[in-house]
Amino acid sequence: MRLAHRLFFYVLAIVAVLVIAVVLIIDNRLQARVIEQTIDGLAREARLVAAEWRDRSTSDRVADVAGSALGHRVTLVDERGLVLGDSEFDGDALRALENHNERPEIAAARAATMGSARRMSSSAGDEEFYVAVRAPLGVARVSLPTRSLEAVFDRTRADVLVAGAIALALAAVLAIWFSRSVSRPVEELRDVAREIADGDLTRRPTLSAPGEVGDLATALYRLAEQLGTRMSALQTDRALLAAVVSSLEEGVIAVDSGALVVQANDAARRLLDVSARLPFSIDMLPREPRLRDALTNAMHGARSGPLEMSLNGRTLLLTASPLEHGGTVLAFFDVTSTRKLEAVRRDFVANVSHELRTPLTVIAGFSETLGEEGVPPAQRRRFSEMIVSNTTRMQRIVDDLLDLSRIESGGWVANPAMVDVEEAVDEVMTVLRAAAVAKEIGLEARIDPGAREVYADRTALGQILSNLLENAIRYTNRGAVVVKTEPVGGGVEISISDSGIGIAAYHLPRIFERFYRVDSGRSRESGGTGLGLSIVRHLVEAHGGRIDARSTEGAGTTIKMLFPSPADIVATSQRNTAGQTH
Ligand code: ADP
Repeated sequence: MRLAHRLFFYVLAIVAVLVIAVVLIIDNRLQARVIEQTIDGLAREARLVAAEWRDRSTSDRVADVAGSALGHRVTLVDERGLVLGDSEFDGDALRALENHNERPEIAAARAATMGSARRMSSSAGDEEFYVAVRAPLGVARVSLPTRSLEAVFDRTRADVLVAGAIALALAAVLAIWFSRSVSRPVEELRDVAREIADGDLTRRPTLSAPGEVGDLATALYRLAEQLGTRMSALQTDRALLAAVVSSLEEGVIAVDSGALVVQANDAARRLLDVSARLPFSIDMLPREPRLRDALTNAMHGARSGPLEMSLNGRTLLLTASPLEHGGTVLAFFDVTSTRKLEAVRRDFVANVSHELRTPLTVIAGFSETLGEEGVPPAQRRRFSEMIVSNTTRMQRIVDDLLDLSRIESGGWVANPAMVDVEEAVDEVMTVLRAAAVAKEIGLEARIDPGAREVYADRTALGQILSNLLENAIRYTNRGAVVVKTEPVGGGVEISISDSGIGIAAYHLPRIFERFYRVDSGRSRESGGTGLGLSIVRHLVEAHGGRIDARSTEGAGTTIKMLFPSPADIVATSQRNTAGQTH
């Protein structure tokens, strides 16, 4: 029930009770007062009659005259109770009246000068008020039918009831006004409070009422102001936190005490491969045992990690920390590339050690023998030749490693210019011709007139061609090695084909790795270091180019390189810069 209705009914009920009480009291008091005054009047009349009653013989006449003058019944009773005169009875009827000595008012008057009674009249046959006073000749009595007073009472009661009804109607109008004036500001405050609770923090009470309701409005206003300030501060903090968390390289996931994931940044979604909308159950996280254990422990208040685990082909470090008020935060750090680099470094150290160990063992062995007495000169010469050739090999390995590390670390920067390819190829072929002739291998250059010049570092191009032609001659027993150029796009493609032993498809993807060899014995024998193709690939890529190998086992190998034009290089670098900024 609404406050206004309640107030209305309460006020009306109170007023109604008051009106009814007033009506009853007035009715009661009025009756008592009227009766009292009536008795007084009747007593005065009775005294008057008593004073006039001097002769027993004229009793009835006195009664009749007084009765008609007063308009009331007058009865005169002698000492013995005999009715001597009555204004309403004459003659026989008067004489037939019974003795009045026992009438209560007569008895009382006789005992104490005056008596009154309200009772049924046996002679008149209705209810009467009787007042009797002692007279010298007996008792004079005046009576009045109560009926005549009842009529007065009824009229008065009706008037009082009408007044009460009018008062009640006025009270109802006032109650409506009062209840509305009390409930309206309260309802307005209720509406404002509700809207604030529903999230509309811009809402303020406009009310300025006196007293407690006004105080309440002011308090609500201040509450809304404070709430607004705190909420906006909270939102700023949240936005900042969200921005920080989402910009983290680390994956971060927050789980609440009800086992629901309530926060997951982009990195976490990417690393764990989850795309469900927040909040989602922890069941949707990967079923990795270490992750599950860490999560369960953290939910029970125990911190774990960093734990290393493999997930979706990545190596992750996981830390699970319980939160103070229940729930937990999981942090994932992607160490895939670090672990790969560590593996590469381990392999590299192992490979270098392995590569250097053989020549070092040879050098150590022969040096020791040379130091012994009585080694024939011919053998001595052979031993020293072995020492020199192994030292040269180690030198080549170290030189190649230094080249590689310079290129990889950015210590070497290409200084490109338009270079005549034919000239560069001729230079390299001149150096290698003797080795080719020794193996009956023909060297041929087919330079396309449209691809005579390549945009490259002159020295690097020489090293590239030299490494590739050396390989082609090294892994070919007879036949020909052909260097071809061709315009491709805006750049130039240089290919070196041989008719040699070829490379099995299984090995082909790995030949550009450091120290990778298909047949390490043959490579070493012929002076290979296993680093040549790796250096070539790095150099070509440093020119913004591409390298690719095709081969058929037993039929020959073709290595193709694309050197882009200066315009292509500029366009590519612009594309990359744009890609980074967006
Ligand atoms: P290496 O110094 O051993 O030649 P590279 O890095 O130059 O090292 O080459 C890696 C491996 O690739 C070689 O060991 C060889 O097995 C293979 N390879 C390179 N070029 C050729 C080719 N033209 N024909 C056949 N195999 C080749």
